[in-house]
Amino acid sequence: MTFKTAQKLRDALLWAGVIIAILGYSNVVMLIIGILFAFSGLMITRLFNKCPHCGKQLGTTKAGEHCRFCGKRID
Ligand SMILES: [Zn+2]
Repeated sequence: MTFKTAQKLRDALLWAGVIIAILGYSNVVMLIIGILFAFSGLMITRLFNKCPHCGKQLGTTKAGEHCRFCGKRID
């Protein structure tokens, strides 16, 4: 999975989780499902939000910027 794909998937999972949790605020099962979606988005970030060159975590770096560790461009 590329850096850009991981960011899009993370955003989609986080938003889906938030929306499901809000819509299901009175339903414990829906609330748990929403929280699981949001956490899976965070796991995607943890696993794939890495520099393709040096492998270090990028934090909030956006695609097109440079890695703060090795200085190479993130595509
Ligand atoms: Zn790097």
